[in-house]
Amino acid sequence: MVQVRDVHKSYGGHQVLAGVDLDVHAGEVAVLIGPSGAGKSTLLRVINHLEQAERGHVRIGGELIGYRRVGNRLRELRGRELLRQRTGVGFVFQNFNLFANLTVLENLVEAPLSAQGRPAAEVYPMALALLDRVGLTDKAHAHPRQLSGGQQQRVAIARALALQPKLLLFDEPTSALDPELVGEVLEVMRSLADGGTTMVVVTHEMGFAREVADTVVFMANGRVVEQGPPEQLLEAPVHERTRSFLTRIR
Ligand code: ATP
Ligand code: MG
Repeated sequence: MVQVRDVHKSYGGHQVLAGVDLDVHAGEVAVLIGPSGAGKSTLLRVINHLEQAERGHVRIGGELIGYRRVGNRLRELRGRELLRQRTGVGFVFQNFNLFANLTVLENLVEAPLSAQGRPAAEVYPMALALLDRVGLTDKAHAHPRQLSGGQQQRVAIARALALQPKLLLFDEPTSALDPELVGEVLEVMRSLADGGTTMVVVTHEMGFAREVADTVVFMANGRVVEQGPPEQLLEAPVHERTRSFLTRIR
């Protein structure tokens, strides 16, 4: 489903991604871990072409992201085509990023109506069903500021799902939450995983990684150091760098 090949990215001479390869198969959950500055967020942003790689490429469902092949050259996508690709991927951020001036329901229907041009008669029932799925039917007409952090993040997940994405990306979705609100968000993510949603999740929640991930990817210094099923990567890592990271976060 997701193929990342030899992706390089620098900011002002500082190499942040130094040749990343990653495969996530349909229906799989990949959890990305690694120290601060490893390039995890940047990798998610390159996957969704919010950042451009200098070298390498990303395919989602076989489709080249951000570019179109014209003859034997690559031309960068813009406008509608890029928007179509982006709305095929849901992105959930640490700080929710909900539209503060819109109600919960309006947050959910915005992109399906305006960016995807789907009919209201289809979009509203879908949005209500998604709110039910994240347990927030009674908050449909509330504004984000009236919700707890956990509720806001569940709205953000429902909003991402409203795009009917092929893939969901999560960047530390529970890091900004009070500890007692983390569980409700992880529970929603777990149910998505059980339902077969393909997900790439950056998180420090090792319990989630252990129980939900199909594969855990350890990144450091802009590279994938090691990758494997959770029981292997978390319990019996091969690389010293992985071992010392895991010791520190436990
Ligand atoms: P964290 O765990 O702290 O979120 P991360 O693994 O997500 O870290 P990134 O946010 O991808 O790391 O950042 C990797 C490196 O790239 C860091 O050194 C960061 O300072 C740098 N960086 C990221 N975005 C930019 C930017 N827009 N401009 C300049 N440097 C950037
Ligand atoms: Mg980050």
